[in-house]
Amino acid sequence: MSAPLDRQISLLNDALQYAEEYLRTVDDRPVFPTTEALHALGSFDEPLPDRSTEASETLAILHRVGSPGTVAQVGGRYFGFVNGGALPVGVAARVLADVWDQNTAHYVMSPVAARLEAVCERWLSELLGFPEGTAAGFVTGTTLANLSGLAAGRNELLRRQGWDVVEAGLYGAPPVPVIVGADAHAAVRKSLALLGMGDAHTHVVPVDDQGRIRVDQLPELGVPALVVAQAGNVNSGAFDPVGALCDRVHPDGGWVHVDGAFGLWAAAVPALGHLADGIDRADSWAVDAHKTLNVPYDCGIVMCRDRGALEAAFRASAAYFQWSKHRDPMRYTPSMSKRARSVELWAVLKTLGRDGVIELVERLCAHARSFAAQLRSHDFQIHNHVVFNQVLVSCEDDTETERTLAEIQALGSCWCGGSTWRGRPVIRVSVCSWSTTDEDIRLAVKSFCDARDAARTGV
Ligand SMILES: *Cc1c(COP(=O)(O)O)cnc(C)c1O
Repeated sequence: MSAPLDRQISLLNDALQYAEEYLRTVDDRPVFPTTEALHALGSFDEPLPDRSTEASETLAILHRVGSPGTVAQVGGRYFGFVNGGALPVGVAARVLADVWDQNTAHYVMSPVAARLEAVCERWLSELLGFPEGTAAGFVTGTTLANLSGLAAGRNELLRRQGWDVVEAGLYGAPPVPVIVGADAHAAVRKSLALLGMGDAHTHVVPVDDQGRIRVDQLPELGVPALVVAQAGNVNSGAFDPVGALCDRVHPDGGWVHVDGAFGLWAAAVPALGHLADGIDRADSWAVDAHKTLNVPYDCGIVMCRDRGALEAAFRASAAYFQWSKHRDPMRYTPSMSKRARSVELWAVLKTLGRDGVIELVERLCAHARSFAAQLRSHDFQIHNHVVFNQVLVSCEDDTETERTLAEIQALGSCWCGGSTWRGRPVIRVSVCSWSTTDEDIRLAVKSFCDARDAARTGV
């Protein structure tokens, strides 16, 4: 074996050993790094080194200083934002894929990545009940997936009016009405802004008490509109009535895009069919594999009923491009070079199978319901219908809620973020990890009670 190869394998072994130490201890430490660990991160802040460092030493520093500075998201008691845990097979597949170091822009750069993308594209359609032939693009996350689906939709609506955006840009283009719900995710607003469709031209439809678009409040259309629905409100977890929206929007030739970052997987679960009713009739969808599906970051997917519309949005040419008769991944995404994220996605889907996905999603939802029920029994208020994995919690009054959240974060037994719901501060719980157990929920509820006690006595 050559010396460089020896060194690479030795480094990988070091990394595995550090990974083992990390995983064995991560549940025994506070979820958020300690003050000492945060302070130690300052040692990274040195001048750019002139001299080289031994690679094994670099890795040792990363573990010694970096590992304690991580948020323990892989443990069972991280309930912040909507962040998934990573399933072991996804992490392991990723290590292998990283050793492969594939660039997946063209088929000729990585036949295996291109093939796995094609397989995942088909499997996702089957899993979610989407039309056969639905196209998928593999991107960094739902922000980019929203951008991609909305670009495809906008350009296609204009193409039908004889306008080629790629060729002519938006200067002088016919206006495309854009319609979103009042609770549309910031990523949707950001994508629209990047696409040159700013807030002033976006019609915002009122939502109900759970954050669902009120279809009865949609404006009279009469023209093709770009309408954004949400499968999984980022606070309440509520689902827009996508089928009813399609009934209103499609007769006028409009396009319905679904931001289903964490909720779209409900479409795979028979018991959650009422949430996903009509989702299969939308035109494009954005979803994260790194949230509910627990594929490692970063793994987002745009799906589009009209393959040609998605391809047209990302049209590009250069003399050196090497198009093939196979799937060239960059046809479906804004990026060209990208890592082979289809490897981990495939590994997770292959391992779980349809039954495993259903079981995972149902377990997250059951944990969320149990979390809410236990908190209620301790006199916390729950502000949403717990239809999926999200729980919005408050205490007696706003000040107590804010203090309790600060105490929860300081105690470190679990981690939750805060939000505002209908004008009032709430503690936001998102159950997103396969590794969360009943015992984790029990410990987290205990931490909520301890934190509230501390907040009360601290007055
Ligand atoms: C997380 C989320 C996004 C953004 O997805 P990223 O993967 O962070 O880019 C968009 N919409 C909803 C509803 C989300 O929950």
